[in-house]
Amino acid sequence: MDTTTQFKALVVEKTADKQFVREVRQRSIDDLPPGDLVVRVHYSSLNYKDALSATGHPGVTRQFPHTPGIDAAGEVVACDSGAFAPGDRVIVTGYDLGMETDGGFGQYIRIPSAWAVPLPEGLSLRESMALGTAGLTAALSVLGLERAGVTPDRGEILVTGATGGVGSIAVAILAAAGYRVTASTGKEFEEEYLRELGATEVIGREELTAGAEKALLAERWAGAVDVVGGPTLAAVLKSVKYGGVVTCCGLVGSPDLPVNVYPFILRGVSLLGIDSVQASPGIRREVWQRLAGAWKPAGLAGMVTECSLQGLEVMIQTILHGGITGRVVVNLL
Ligand code: NDP
Repeated sequence: MDTTTQFKALVVEKTADKQFVREVRQRSIDDLPPGDLVVRVHYSSLNYKDALSATGHPGVTRQFPHTPGIDAAGEVVACDSGAFAPGDRVIVTGYDLGMETDGGFGQYIRIPSAWAVPLPEGLSLRESMALGTAGLTAALSVLGLERAGVTPDRGEILVTGATGGVGSIAVAILAAAGYRVTASTGKEFEEEYLRELGATEVIGREELTAGAEKALLAERWAGAVDVVGGPTLAAVLKSVKYGGVVTCCGLVGSPDLPVNVYPFILRGVSLLGIDSVQASPGIRREVWQRLAGAWKPAGLAGMVTECSLQGLEVMIQTILHGGITGRVVVNLL
């Protein structure tokens, strides 16, 4: 492999006056961090965390210049450890990719091979990025509900932030798995989109938090997938039925959780944390297999907006303001 190979990447630079500027530039494989696996990236995707990295959020990235992109799918160019062969198609999500390690918003990545999983039969590289970290997280959330005994006969499942990446895919997976799904959204004009994904009911964001200052709310949901956190998650916990389970993976509303203990001690409600970043290789392979099979969202193609590296700037600003519906796939071919 010629490590002087030049390629295009989005590079975020920190200026002397502590501003963060983004530009598509030429880089070479020699500029990338060390690792036993080199992948020619075909597709990446945009997640909320990428927008935080691209705008200098210190909780995600502290070293600049930097190429964000927590997701990448492509073909193996070289693998020193022998874990993969040249030409193998792989998915890479999470770990340190796109955080301090240059990520998928470049045409090549160099990483530890332990971060990659083989692309399962039944998914194309583009589809794997239509799912990406958001899909993995949504699937881990549904797996969490399933393993906690929340079966479809237990009642309705609520999904918050439903038009976003994790939310959209969670709605679709739950519907495919036979659950009745209520989608909560701040974009009520997207009701048709949510119903097409499989939601049986769509409710407004405010409806969830109405009366949330009370100790408990009327029991409504058998379980919930929450991406919002803050007062939304608190209200959801207060309105889950006896023995229900709520998964928590995000903080788009707030990282705080202003709740009391009553849902837990009077209704036996469980709060389940979901992390896709350090999920074990075994769980990743299992979940990607399910996403390529029974859980593959029927409406996946309709969820996708595709952009180039140049088009990312607008998308980054949009996702930061909660304005994306579905998933953004980045084409690096
Ligand atoms: P998106 O931006 O695609 O979706 C978030 C959605 O939340 C928005 O589309 C909007 O949906 C809703 N929303 C936005 N702002 C607010 C607000 N202020 N109050 C209430 N709802 C809001 O993000 P992702 O789906 O990619 O990620 C969602 C969350 O999950 C993020 O916090 C992200 O960091 C986290 N995450 C965590 C992972 C993990 O491993 N734990 C992995 C992946 C993501 P609507 O308009 O429909 O309400």
